[in-house]
Amino acid sequence: MFQETIKNYLHAHNYSKINLKAVLFDMDGVLFDSMKNHAVAWVEAMKRYGMHMEKEEAYLHEGRTGSGTINIISQRERGHQATEQEVKEIYQAKSDIFNSLPKAEPMPGAYELLQKIKKNGLVPMVVTGSGQLSLLEKLNRSYPDVFRQELMVTAFDVKYGKPNPEPYLIALQKAHIRANEAIVVENAPLGVRAGVAAGIFTVALNTGPLPDKALLDEGADLLFPSMQAFNENWEAFYKENL
Ligand code: CA
Repeated sequence: MFQETIKNYLHAHNYSKINLKAVLFDMDGVLFDSMKNHAVAWVEAMKRYGMHMEKEEAYLHEGRTGSGTINIISQRERGHQATEQEVKEIYQAKSDIFNSLPKAEPMPGAYELLQKIKKNGLVPMVVTGSGQLSLLEKLNRSYPDVFRQELMVTAFDVKYGKPNPEPYLIALQKAHIRANEAIVVENAPLGVRAGVAAGIFTVALNTGPLPDKALLDEGADLLFPSMQAFNENWEAFYKENL
């Protein structure tokens, strides 16, 4: 069922097989159903600073660093970039609004999938642009004993962030593995671009409002409509990777 896409990936990268050792999960919109809150927080924070932003733009820019997103909107709305002070203030406002919203739920199907991955002897990792403090605590509340601090890649580890392949390349380094020994699980176009640019087989989960095309155009190797669908197909996918 998945053989064709795997074959295409191997051929494009000159690998003989995917020798799966680790699964690299993006966080927002993949492990947590949190993108709606992020979108609301972005639109509201930009509004406070006199800038208009569509909710959908939060999904289009998803994965970028905070300053990256703020500067793109600022450039368009005001014709210039935001000052460092403004970036700090706007991102703080965005974080405050986000934290005031009801807590995002774990993505349905994610915990079950993580259990299967662990049972298969694979290492689950988180690769996120998020710079929230105590991220591991948050992860542990919903996914106890799944992730290890030293194998996480967050905003604190990166210089460029997605869509640069950097965060995924750092993940490979931290796990001491090569690109064909991992897969990426992403929900955002820029996240998919980062995974693909890192040379890693990239699974897109379309958990937001964008059309599938937005993810496929970035080079996603495989697309599922939800985390639950990926979870249900895991056994078949994994078997074909052996
Ligand atoms: Ca995401």
